[in-house]
Amino acid sequence: MNLPFALLLVVALAAPAAAQEAKEIKLDGYAEWRDRGALVVEGQRVRLAPAGKFKGGGEARDFSSVPLGYEVKVKGARQRDGSILAREVEARPNGNALFEGDLQRAFDEQESEYRRRGRMFEQDQEGRMESYGRLLERGRHVERVRRIAARLVPPYMEPEDFRVYVVENEEWNAMAAPNRSIYVFTGLLEDMDDDEVAIVLGHELAHATYEHSRKGFKKQMLIQLGALGLLGIAEGAIDSEGWRAAAQVLTVLGASAWSAGYGRGHEDQADRVGLRYAWEAGYDVTKGPQLWQRFADKYGEGNKVVNFFFSDHSQSLVRSKNLRQELAYNYGGQ
Ligand SMILES: [Zn+2]
Repeated sequence: MNLPFALLLVVALAAPAAAQEAKEIKLDGYAEWRDRGALVVEGQRVRLAPAGKFKGGGEARDFSSVPLGYEVKVKGARQRDGSILAREVEARPNGNALFEGDLQRAFDEQESEYRRRGRMFEQDQEGRMESYGRLLERGRHVERVRRIAARLVPPYMEPEDFRVYVVENEEWNAMAAPNRSIYVFTGLLEDMDDDEVAIVLGHELAHATYEHSRKGFKKQMLIQLGALGLLGIAEGAIDSEGWRAAAQVLTVLGASAWSAGYGRGHEDQADRVGLRYAWEAGYDVTKGPQLWQRFADKYGEGNKVVNFFFSDHSQSLVRSKNLRQELAYNYGGQ
């Protein structure tokens, strides 16, 4: 082997590793906890580099005064200890977004309807009512899942901000509606221990706290309604009245419609944040990867049963790998 070739080989082998270390990490989340000088955002521990830029709004005057619950954007690099050293941090109060109110009101009405009828349901494309099962508001399952959920809520929110229900259905399923109501199926509660329930619930709670439905709302609405032939007009032609009406249609179509549009980015984010919720609450998050394997074994390739929690998530192996990586970065390996 001549020298130039050997050099070339060394460069070629070294390049991917170097590129990986220099890879910029971007976070777009909320200030969730403070941890020995670090700010936890998207479940990640963030420190501002000595020469890092800080841009703040509201009460966020500098990195150390960012109030919990603020929207925080971070650009930086992963450090050896798994934390993120930021070269740029931007923090501002979490304001109310366009259509957030309409969406919440529509789902509040739907939640009242579930409670009035004592069951959770959706309508199919022909308008036929399909029941998910009885809606439970008391009993051992409800007490257990509400006790776990109350522990998972991040410190900038109150447990009372969320309403958790149990649905009598043997599938392993859970879903968060855009109005902070969360529904957990009895099948999941029967078969999972508290740590596993906490990991699933943490994930659903993160969809709610990160307002994934609202963020994916427009796109999701247009895709869903377009697919059903219910909306034949361009996005620009829809006024606030139109969005309100569309939000109502989405509630009636049920969980398969409102949870279908999260997309992989939101699912992965919900995994990272949900794991942090469970960890801070004292649950054993090392069960995450094997829990995902259990879902894959039950609902994996070839199984036609629809599962809202499972479907549209990262592929099982990738997700299991991501969770292992997350444990290594933030929770002392596994
Ligand atoms: Zn999800």
